[in-house]
This record gives sequence, structure tokens and C-alpha cells, in this order.
Amino acid sequence: MRLSRYFLPTLKENPAEAQIVSHRLMLRAGMVRQSAAGIYSWLPMGYKVLRNIEQVVREEMDAAGSQEVLMPTIQPAELWQESGRYDDYGKEMLRITDRHDRSLLYGPTHEEVVTDIFRNAVKSYRDLPINLYQIHWKFRDEVRPRFGVMRGREFFMKDNYSFDIDAAGAVRSYNKMFVAYLRCFARLGLTPIPMRADTGAIGGDLSHEFIVLADTGESAVYCDKSWFKTNPLDLDVDFESDLQPIVDEWTTLYAATDEMHDAADCPVAADQLYEGRGIEVGHIFYFGTKYSTAMGATVTDSSGADVPVEMGSHGIGVSRLVGAIIEASHDESGIIWPESIAPFKVGLINLRAGDDACDAACDKLYADLQKAGVEIIYDDRDERAGVKFANMDLIGVPWQLAVGPRGLKNGVVELKRRGSDGDKEELSIESAIARLS
Ligand code: ATP
Ligand code: MG
Repeated sequence: MRLSRYFLPTLKENPAEAQIVSHRLMLRAGMVRQSAAGIYSWLPMGYKVLRNIEQVVREEMDAAGSQEVLMPTIQPAELWQESGRYDDYGKEMLRITDRHDRSLLYGPTHEEVVTDIFRNAVKSYRDLPINLYQIHWKFRDEVRPRFGVMRGREFFMKDNYSFDIDAAGAVRSYNKMFVAYLRCFARLGLTPIPMRADTGAIGGDLSHEFIVLADTGESAVYCDKSWFKTNPLDLDVDFESDLQPIVDEWTTLYAATDEMHDAADCPVAADQLYEGRGIEVGHIFYFGTKYSTAMGATVTDSSGADVPVEMGSHGIGVSRLVGAIIEASHDESGIIWPESIAPFKVGLINLRAGDDACDAACDKLYADLQKAGVEIIYDDRDERAGVKFANMDLIGVPWQLAVGPRGLKNGVVELKRRGSDGDKEELSIESAIARLS
């Protein structure tokens, strides 16, 4: 992509409305624009990052054996009246009336819709387990939408729903999600901390929130310091093998609960306790037969008896992750994208656009790297070098390749890794292509 043609409305100044760094940088880097409070449009570069994150999430869900579906954003109120949540959900739910006076709503979550699909299609334990997920827009009329896409009203979520014949199967499905989440967040360059979450009124059930460390986060974090030495990507998990030992080990290491506020109850030794703040990027929940009982989603078990199906639901805040990743990875000059989700891997800077040698070298680099399948943004504009470097730093492209007349005289171009404290390397055009391909 040539920057001269790319719709990237960057801002020089910090927008006054943005309180936290990820919000400021997303606006300054031309990734999003607000349409109404907590409702955003995603511009080309922001959308590219959102799609890249979505893809990592999708790959991990697929690997865990879940199947992708797409459910409607608009749902009938009747389903929520059946589950008993229509009144409980309160003002966060956006309620709509159609021209025939039928009550509809914009889905804040999809337990009811998926349970309805299940009860009409599945009758026997032989068809279980089933895991279905979607990556889709939700609407919650948050009292205080803030921090940009971090707490929006309309936001992009991955939601997975598991159906099992018994509690043992349901816990197994839960564990698969637990490991899939660890892997997924690690691939996004994040240190995910699973924290035991409050399951509210439905006692005895299992729930974990996955928190990413950030001073601006809205959640308190307590965990064992040794957590930070573990890399979830090292978990070469065969999802069909028994996951329980892995999950046990990880949850013990994190055995942090809200009660850890009370040091006396805390299972982590004081000198091993990490306390901080973080952002909730995912949440897994095993809630048993709450919805299946209320909505009559039963299957016959091996003895021929009708039993309500055991369910869980598992969310990842895909749009919130864009902000969370920036909170975790930036410096004073701008964003530092992890390569796994960067909108472009290479930023090519022509230090003297219009100079024949520079233009020719850049055209070659641009063409050859594109041919090699490398996502590249080429700053071909007639702008000062300082402006170009600042712009590349702001948008966070992992590798910057600068081409100028002085270097070309010696047959070299300059390569810099974003976030590497300015370490630069000079190399020939051919080796630059080989290195980045
Ligand atoms: P929070 O406590 O932050 O309000 P929640 O517990 O209500 O979140 P869940 O119902 O667990 O949210 O939704 C699953 C995931 O969706 C969350 O872990 C979070 O990453 C994301 N999410 C929830 N609300 C929002 C929002 N308003 N804007 C962006 N992402 C959100
Ligand atoms: Mg939650």
C-alpha cells in the first residue's frame, strides 16, 4: 500500500477527549473515529488490526474443536422472557419495537439464541459435545462508555457456547477454552492472567476472567509472580488429550480470588504476590443447566431419560483487545504492534521522494517484498524525513526500512526494529529483501 493513497487520517495533536494512551493513539493513528458515545467506525488500518486479532482468535477456537456460526444481532424479546433475563438485564439492553409492535432487542450476548437453536436441533447425548462460536457485534448500553473501544456500547466479541451431556464433559469443554485462551492471548503478545471470577447467584459453578496487565485497567489483579515466567505458547496442547493437569497447574499458580484482598486468606506467599491493575479481555463461564432448564433444552441420556444439557459460555473482547494491546505495547512515539497482528509488517520510507535513485530502489523493495507476500506500507509522499519517521513510529509498523541518497551511494538501506531503542542496521537492498521475506 502506498501511503499517498492510503486513507490514514492521522492527527498531530493529542485529542482532548481521550484520557488513556490507547484511545489517544488509536485516534492519532487514524484507526477509529467515534460516531456516537461508545460507537465507533473502524478506518482501514484499525479494521486491518481488528481483523488480524479476529483471525488469531478464530484459529485458536477452531483448534479447540469449536465450529463457527453467525447469529443475528437483533433478537426477539420472547427468548429472553423464557430464560427470565428480559427484566433482569435492565437498562444495558437496547430494546427495539418493530412496525408490528413486536419487542426486539440488540443482543448484548447470545445464550438464549444459541439455546433455542440447540433445543430445536439436538435430541440425543450421541450428538454431544457441541461447541459453537461466533465473532460478532454486541450492544450494551453502558452507563459510562469510555476509554475509546475499551468500553464501548457497540463492541466486537467472540462468544463460544458449549453443550455437554454431564458436568464432567462440561468441565472438559471449559478446560479446552481455558487453554485456548492462554494460547490466544500469548499469540497476541500479551501476558494473560486467569483470575477466578465471582459466579454470582449460581453457586458452585466455574468462572475465570483473563486479565492483561495495564495501569489504566479497571480490574484489580492478584497473582503469583512466578506466573510471568511461564509461556502459554510452550503448551503444545493436544486438545483431545486430558487437559486437566495443565489447567490444574495454571489455576493453582493463579489461584487468586477477590478474597486475596484479605491477606490472611491469600494462598500466595507475601513475597511472591504480584498486585496490579489490568484489563479484562476474556471471560469463561460454566453455568450448568441455568438456560437449558429454563428454556427446555433437553437431550436423552444413555438410559433414555430426558436431561437438561450442561452449558458454558466463553467471551473474548476482540475490539477491546485492540486497545489492550496498545496499552501493553507502546512508547512515547506511538504504537508498537506485535508482528502477529501488525497491520503492516514493513514500513518503507523514501527519504527523498522524486530522486531517481531513491524512487528506483524503493520501487524495487516495494515490488519484491509484496511479491514475497510481505504486508508493506510505502511512504512515497513528498514530506520531510522527520515527519515520515514520526508517522511510522506512530502507526507502530514492526520493521522500518529507510532509503536515502547517502546510503544508496554506499549501496545500503537502513533497517530499524520498532521499539528497539533506535538500533539501526545498514544492509544491501538484496539482504534487506531476504531478511524481511
Ligand atoms: P466488564 O466487567 O469489563 O464490563 P463483562 O464482564 O460485562 O465486562 P462479559 O459479559 O464477560 O463482560 O463479556 C466478555 C468480554 O467482552 C469481556 O471479557 C470483555 O473483554 C468484552 N467486553 C465486555 N463489555 C465490553 C464493552 N463495553 N466494550 C468492549 N468490550 C467489552
Ligand atoms: Mg466478564
